[in-house]
Amino acid sequence: MFGKKTMKILFNKPYLTGNEENNILNALKNKQHCGNHKFGKLCIELMKEKHILGDVFLVPSGTAALEMGALLANLEADDEVILPSYTFSSTANAIVLRGAKPIFCEVDTDTMNIDYNKIENLITSRTKMIVPIDYAGIPCIIDKIMEIAKKHNLIVMHDTAQSYGSYYKGKATGAWADLAAYSFHETKNITCGEGGALVINRTEWIERANFLQEKGTDRSLVLNGVKSKYHWVDYGSSFLLADILAAHLYAQIENEKEIKEKRSKITEAYNILLQPYVAKGVLRIPKVESYMEINHHAFWIIFDTQNNKEMFINLLRERNVYAYIGYMPLHSSPMGKKFGYIAKDLPITEELGNKLVRLPFYADLADEGLNYCLDAMSDVLKVIYSVTG
Ligand SMILES: *Cc1c(COP(=O)(O)O)cnc(C)c1O
Repeated sequence: MFGKKTMKILFNKPYLTGNEENNILNALKNKQHCGNHKFGKLCIELMKEKHILGDVFLVPSGTAALEMGALLANLEADDEVILPSYTFSSTANAIVLRGAKPIFCEVDTDTMNIDYNKIENLITSRTKMIVPIDYAGIPCIIDKIMEIAKKHNLIVMHDTAQSYGSYYKGKATGAWADLAAYSFHETKNITCGEGGALVINRTEWIERANFLQEKGTDRSLVLNGVKSKYHWVDYGSSFLLADILAAHLYAQIENEKEIKEKRSKITEAYNILLQPYVAKGVLRIPKVESYMEINHHAFWIIFDTQNNKEMFINLLRERNVYAYIGYMPLHSSPMGKKFGYIAKDLPITEELGNKLVRLPFYADLADEGLNYCLDAMSDVLKVIYSVTG
């Protein structure tokens, strides 16, 4: 190890474009700090302009976007909702908080997204909605999912928490489904610490969305001069993003192209490093089809054995490089079991989930640390697979 500089490569680090501070101070001095003010409006305008989305509601988190979407979709007790088991708890919570039942579907082994070929078998007379996600920012096969939904008269709420900036067949991921939920959490590509957006692509739902966002009141009609007093008219909650956070977010959206470019260098480097192992058949990496444009949110490896996965994580840690496991499948988690599931109900999700590792991924890594990180991974893989030279 003589002469080798040691570094510490974290799993994730938020990126600053440089304009956040000015925007935040500006928002502070405006003295309009709650939701739907100057920076919130600017963010929405810019997002719609860049990605041709339906209506956009800025909300406090990706989780809140999913919860507001579930209310808007009128999910009720005993409704069934089909979603992948390989996702974050928030996807399922939005469903079960309405009293509806999660119906877990297997994943596609190329992307770890929902396997659309297995959706129709799960549809019953109680099915109301499908909630696919875009794991690691790679779009699910959303056109096929929309076809299935149309055929069976189902709503689609797309959990696009990880795929802001990704495109499927030329259209932003958030533009396809009835509803889409983006996240601007610190760990996502574009962030304001905690934040999210609900995209509504059905114009007939917009008025009601305003009520839900404002604690179930028609305050929006008062602000628009339509009414003089507002009333409690619907379900609702406080689904608003404070303008100071929107100011942070605006700096990021303005620079999203540069952020995506930096991140793309990491995807490229990981692909090159891992290709020989993929060719040998010991590792699998995300498969991105030519009709997808990804936002470079994350990168995963599925190892041939769980043991090799663990060795990889541990040996990298010894070199100060922090890779992590992916999701613990929801169907076999304590909550999944309460809904009657057991691990072997979804054997593919269970097996691949156990062998998956997510690699360090953040915009600044492209400028500093990437080579150190690649060298460490290269060494570790040589140890695991006894490659010499
Ligand atoms: C991050 C994430 C969420 C939750 O977003 P928050 O903004 O953290 O609430 C939901 N679903 C998926 C798939 C996510 O990755």
